[in-house]
Amino acid sequence: MLDSDIQGIDQTVAFGAGLRHHVRKYAAQAGAIRVLILTTPHQSDLGLELAETLGGSAAGIFSKAAMHTPTDITEEALQHLNEAGADAVLSAGGGSTIGLGKALALRAPLVQIALPTTYAGSECTPILGQTENGVKSTMSDPKLRPDVVLYDPELVTTLPVPMTVTSAINAMAHAVEALYAKDRTEATDALAVQGLKAFHEGLPAVLEDPSDLHAREETQKGAWACGTVLGQVGMALHHKLCHTLGGALNLPHAETHAIILPHATSYNWPAAQTELAPVAKMFGAEEPGEALWNFATSLGAPTSLQALGVAETDLDRVAALAAQNPYWNPRDITQDGIRALLQRAWDGTAPQP
Ligand code: NAD
Repeated sequence: MLDSDIQGIDQTVAFGAGLRHHVRKYAAQAGAIRVLILTTPHQSDLGLELAETLGGSAAGIFSKAAMHTPTDITEEALQHLNEAGADAVLSAGGGSTIGLGKALALRAPLVQIALPTTYAGSECTPILGQTENGVKSTMSDPKLRPDVVLYDPELVTTLPVPMTVTSAINAMAHAVEALYAKDRTEATDALAVQGLKAFHEGLPAVLEDPSDLHAREETQKGAWACGTVLGQVGMALHHKLCHTLGGALNLPHAETHAIILPHATSYNWPAAQTELAPVAKMFGAEEPGEALWNFATSLGAPTSLQALGVAETDLDRVAALAAQNPYWNPRDITQDGIRALLQRAWDGTAPQP
């Protein structure tokens, strides 16, 4: 059944249970003739299902998408793309798979179709992070934003509950930082609040019944709003810290975001009280970091870097790295302040401004 279509920025965006069965129609409407399907190894069955749906439009399946978009995998996929004569990619998966689609669109003129299966939101942005020889670099180019995004809530029902929670908080982090972004506008504020509201209302219902398609669709609408706002404004301390932790210690992406968000929010609160007031109000505490902490812990989100395997002796190095290369943040970044924040995140104790 097709549900409501929403027009995003230079994108066709649609929501609806079973939408993946209509992918051939959307591909044809976007002018695609031969579509290479991309997945991770873990989601190769989804690739097979989509190849059947695409029928004669399918140009093969490449199932080696990996975290942080390694360029050697992209080069291998590019060879498949050229050999198959594909003029389009269908990226079916989370941020890693959608990242591979973007990396291919950087190297060849392509129609990009995304079928997101997490809440990370990469499908809404023109941003690509790639890794070469262990070094990750990030770029932004309008041609990287997928042309068509199909949100099929049935595809997120397979996300295990812990991943559902961490992926959702990863998405919420985009909206929280958008609220105090230097380049925010009334429109981005509204989008950020819309995204947070969708998760605030939808996520508890998803946890009660992970197969509830209505609640899953609500959370996907949150992912769309949070991802879209990520593509429109600059991020600050929270994203910088997560990238530093991820890069220096090779930590899992969504879990790291889930642990850090309440702490980064509390850190920034003294300098962004007005901007963060909607978060405090929506999640029901005086201080927004505490409000997010209460929400995250009520959902069973991870709270401790120690439990992720981080050694306490690494915290000094991460604090020093995060305090380097000053970037804009509502509150001054001090190495001592970040070190104290990291200690609380490592211990798994509540955030403090
Ligand atoms: P992911 O894409 O790395 O997926 C993690 C694992 O979960 C994979 O094995 C995947 O196959 C599996 N998985 C995904 N969806 C599933 C489902 N519905 N059911 C069962 N298993 C499923 O995870 P992610 O958090 O979506 O993406 C993280 C990556 O995306 C990072 O590299 C991050 O930097 C990037 N990212 C980029 C942007 C951007 O705008 N460029 C935005 C957000 C995230």
